[in-house]
Amino acid sequence: MGGNHRVFDRHKDAGLAQLPSAEPPRSSDGGTAKAAPRIKAMRTTAELREGFLTFFEERDHLRRKSASIIPPADDPTTLFIVAGMQPMKRWFLGEKSDAPRVTTVQKAVRAGGKQNDLDDVGLTNRHLCFLEMLGNFSFGDYFKDGAVDYAWEFVTEHMKLDPERVWASVFAGDPELGLGEDGVAIASWERYLPRERIVGLPRTENFWQAADTGPCGPSSEIYYDRGAEHGCGREDCRPGCECERYLELWNLVFMEFDLADDGALTPLPRQNIDTGMGLERGAMLMQGVESLFDTDTFKPLLDWVGERADAAYGSSEEATKAYRVIVEHARTSSFLVAEGVAPSNEGRGYVLRRVIRRAVQFGRRLGLEPPFLYELGDVVREQMGDVYPELVERRREISELVRGEEERFRETLERGEKLFEEMVAKGEITPDDAFRLHDTYGFPWELTKELAAERGLEVNEEEFTRLMEEQRERSRQASAFEVEVQVKGQRSDFVGYERTDVLTAILAYAELGDGTFQAKLEQSPFYPDGGGQVSDAGYIENEETGARADLISATRLEEDQVLTFQGEGFGEGMRVRAVVPWSVRFPTMANHTATHVLHTALRDVLGEHVRQAGSAVRPDKLRFDFTHPRALTREERDRVEQEVNRVIFENRPVRAFITPIEEARRLGAMMLFGEKYGDEVRVVEIDGYSRELCGGTHVRSTAEIGPFVILSEGSVGSGARRIEAVTSGSAFGLLHERSLEAEELRSELAETRKQARKRGAERDRTAEVVYRDESGDVVVAQVEAIKGSELRDLSDQIRQSKKAAAVLLGSVDDGRVYLVVNVDPSLVDAGVDAVAIAREAAKKIEGGGGGRPNLAEAGGKNPAGLDEAFEVGKSEIAAARG
Ligand code: ATP
Ligand code: MG
Repeated sequence: MGGNHRVFDRHKDAGLAQLPSAEPPRSSDGGTAKAAPRIKAMRTTAELREGFLTFFEERDHLRRKSASIIPPADDPTTLFIVAGMQPMKRWFLGEKSDAPRVTTVQKAVRAGGKQNDLDDVGLTNRHLCFLEMLGNFSFGDYFKDGAVDYAWEFVTEHMKLDPERVWASVFAGDPELGLGEDGVAIASWERYLPRERIVGLPRTENFWQAADTGPCGPSSEIYYDRGAEHGCGREDCRPGCECERYLELWNLVFMEFDLADDGALTPLPRQNIDTGMGLERGAMLMQGVESLFDTDTFKPLLDWVGERADAAYGSSEEATKAYRVIVEHARTSSFLVAEGVAPSNEGRGYVLRRVIRRAVQFGRRLGLEPPFLYELGDVVREQMGDVYPELVERRREISELVRGEEERFRETLERGEKLFEEMVAKGEITPDDAFRLHDTYGFPWELTKELAAERGLEVNEEEFTRLMEEQRERSRQASAFEVEVQVKGQRSDFVGYERTDVLTAILAYAELGDGTFQAKLEQSPFYPDGGGQVSDAGYIENEETGARADLISATRLEEDQVLTFQGEGFGEGMRVRAVVPWSVRFPTMANHTATHVLHTALRDVLGEHVRQAGSAVRPDKLRFDFTHPRALTREERDRVEQEVNRVIFENRPVRAFITPIEEARRLGAMMLFGEKYGDEVRVVEIDGYSRELCGGTHVRSTAEIGPFVILSEGSVGSGARRIEAVTSGSAFGLLHERSLEAEELRSELAETRKQARKRGAERDRTAEVVYRDESGDVVVAQVEAIKGSELRDLSDQIRQSKKAAAVLLGSVDDGRVYLVVNVDPSLVDAGVDAVAIAREAAKKIEGGGGGRPNLAEAGGKNPAGLDEAFEVGKSEIAAARG
């Protein structure tokens, strides 16, 4: 390894060379041949991406945009999209496709499932966790010959790889599948390659399936011989060998089967082609560099790290690996957050957490202190934001979430390291120590081992593993306890709706070891995890002895609950005081009620198709998933936020009641689709606004929620969106922060304006005033192509400099029309409403409008209507002023 940017002499400048003359593309299956190719000479990653798509477009393929990395809700077979074919599964299974031929570049993440390359990142030259996959697809159109023809032409004539170094593998057959060697693929290849460079490989290599079930088929891979100097030197080194000599570039899959649960293969209705070429691998070969990380896309990322690290890229194997892991994970984390994934302890969120933490760990080896990864995310955005605009749209979330996770991990590491030092001070690190670091403090075992080694200490790994096993055993016992108490029929009485502080007794008790125990209380104020609301935090204490145990979790057991605590000095029958601190419970209630308001507000603003798809109510924030086919516009998002706050400040009473399910249905209470409810249900009603079946804890009236602020809105799979929001104290904190930021911005802006004025470039002179009324205090003007805050600011400037009572500005930018109506507050008091004026005027430009009574905006798609809109605006203003 190392940072050796080796270049193959032979095709050093290949990518820059002119293309050969416009020979019509061959197509053995009768596809139409086109005139001169538009495909340009390729060298950079961006050129390869575009060149590939153009090549196939010219050959009658429909270019489709990359689908989300999150698989559609109805495809639970993988955690992430791992290949280009996945979003089109239904077309392979026989549903009619948009076109018989399709080409895409698809974002993919290979982590946390069967296709898991996360741990290979940095170990090999050819694996990434996030990658872009180029593909061409045929749905019952061309088959093996066609796919091989296209691939051969693209690789040799456009990528200009040396034909003498190209190899192909084909499926060697498998008795279990009842399939023999793929003779057809061999024949297809023999038209281009000598038989010795066509090798048969087993099912593990050359039978492709994205998951355990679904469309699949034998495949044929294109390999490139990078030269003996990259190889293992073994006599039988061939494609399929794990060394770095033969690089797999492109997989052509002959999708003709559907694999069932029981392993049975059924032929698909059509014979299809699905191919996947790793974009980065293609760039690596074209550029003749040592690894994926030495291609052009990664260069600025490596440079960024290089400016901050205390060892150079390539200075040692260790350093090179650390650089590669960091830059890779900067990409993966940016793309995952852009898709709405947030760090957590399970599923996709856990992959994101691992990726960020892994980057931080490798960063520390180079002397980079967290948080740093979030800044590297900016470089990723600069690199790829034009192809993937979600990186730009979500820049704030990416930066905040990555940074937050880095900071949490830094705290974990610092706490762990402090403890570690204390442990070292006593001369050794026992397996118990290592286990405690891992289990209680989340300190990675690998790091303990490493730090210990640095000090010449060794930790008994076998013993550590045994402790981990015991821990697993304890969780099994814990579930045994749950069964036992249920059999005994000792039920807890949940009193948490009314009380957060009760004197009660321990009904059942079981030691779990390691200072933890499980218990059931006669009366419990603790809300057990469920219905989207997380388990309460809190404690129990024995007021006589002063013993105290903290609640780790409250778990639901049908109608009952079981509590797990950390602490000592308790036992069955003991009287205890059980407390949920108000500082935890209150914000949780506020968030839960806000979730209900949000649900109804979304249906009001977006439409009745909105259905709840999941939620998480916690003390610090709330999350709400719902069905909706596309991202919310800025305006929709604002309207939702405003609507929720409106209902909050109307201070509507909130009450809960138990009723038969039929009655709840009759009342139109919202229920979760697919959920099973008992005969009697609990309905939470917000007076005059909404009714939902819900077992959660709620505030007594909406005003208790306090301000409601949306943190983010994003996708969680096809057709589902997620909103994260804060209320009460957290919302106030956020608003305060934002107002400080805005203040800073304002002073920056004021400074910029001052400079601009100095240069004599005062904007409003460029405004062509089309109308001033007699008193001179209504200004109507068309201005140069500006919109949004610039247009608003200009209207303020004009209103002040011209001492106008009302200003109506219009502008045309990129085929769209923008209007702003700005009226003096004294007019608002007198009953003039800018919003109403903007909405009326908007009709003329085929658009809509909104805003506040003194400042409203409209946007539309008909520039020709601008003059009419001005007329309407003028008469509306005149009428409103009476
Ligand atoms: P390998 O055996 O090298 O891991 P694979 O068999 O997993 O590759 P496929 O599942 O066939 O690869 O994916 C199709 C193409 O995507 C590959 O030919 C390769 O160009 C690219 N590819 C696959 N995995 C990665 C990865 N982790 N990083 C970069 N490119 C990849
Ligand atoms: Mg692989």
